[in-house]
Amino acid sequence: MPKTSERAAKLHERGLVLDAHYDLLPLVLEKRRKGRNRVMEQDYLPAFRAGRVDGVVSSLFVSNDHLPEMGLRRTLDMIAALHAEMEESPGLLTLCRSVADIEAAKERGEFAVLLSLEGVDAIGNDLALLRILYELGVRGVGLVWSRRNYAGDGCFFNPVREGRKGGLTDFGVRVVEEAARLGMYVDVSHLNDEGVEDLLSFTDVPVMASHSNCRAIAPSMRNLTDEQIVRLAERGGVLGMNSCSTFVREDPKKNPVGPGELADHALHIKNLVGAKHVMLGFDFCDEMRDPSELAEGRYYDCVKGYEGSAAFTTALLERGFTDDEIAGVLGGNLLDFLRRTIG
Ligand SMILES: [Zn+2]
Repeated sequence: MPKTSERAAKLHERGLVLDAHYDLLPLVLEKRRKGRNRVMEQDYLPAFRAGRVDGVVSSLFVSNDHLPEMGLRRTLDMIAALHAEMEESPGLLTLCRSVADIEAAKERGEFAVLLSLEGVDAIGNDLALLRILYELGVRGVGLVWSRRNYAGDGCFFNPVREGRKGGLTDFGVRVVEEAARLGMYVDVSHLNDEGVEDLLSFTDVPVMASHSNCRAIAPSMRNLTDEQIVRLAERGGVLGMNSCSTFVREDPKKNPVGPGELADHALHIKNLVGAKHVMLGFDFCDEMRDPSELAEGRYYDCVKGYEGSAAFTTALLERGFTDDEIAGVLGGNLLDFLRRTIG
């Protein structure tokens, strides 16, 4: 029997490895704005290769600084950045619009990028624009980030001073229906509890949570309750395991957090609804932090980047996940979900 870390490395090598949430294009766009090009090739593909990661869903996250006026423009700029990168680094990366595209990319040895909104802020209150984003290759629709938009209310990372919250708006319900009609999937990460409840009661679409853990283990509102996880699973939903330490353990400054603590969330979901509802949603964000914080040892990410992602797989093996279950967590479960939503 090989050592668990060797088994983990083999599992990454053998199957398809996909991460359901990474702020890749927001990072790439910022660097391109400073005059760089071939950013993917130089800054990101080496880590993906080292971790044997075949593709990611890139968020099209728009920061508060750009809203509301620049939401659509930033979103289009991120998609333009991807096309420029594809042109500058031919044969290295590709925009995927379907499961067949992902499989073909893997076959050709190209890194697969899927696009997902992290909040529908870019379309304002204009449903017709969702169609345009679909035509540009966007396949995921996260309804909100941690703020309010025309579709609904986001949940916050920590309690804030605010009035009563709403659930999904009429526009939000129509966004969900239109997304399903077009062949886009819906993502509830960052949506508040009222919105999740509305989404599940107004519609019957399959729903994912691209980067949310279990509230039963870490009580952040960004994580899902057991009841929500059961209801998501009943309609074939999947949850991406988020490596941000504040969503892994309460008070991570006091409680050390590593890949094992994240794997505890995966195990909780496996015990609750089955391993086929678990996927990767690492949401790596140490790169976005102030270097002085990192110098002080204040890290967010409890898994050390894509190059270190097999440590999470090792932790799953240590918790009794079978090779088949892990192949699902690493990519198969997301692929199944996509097959049922975007096709
Ligand atoms: Zn997020």
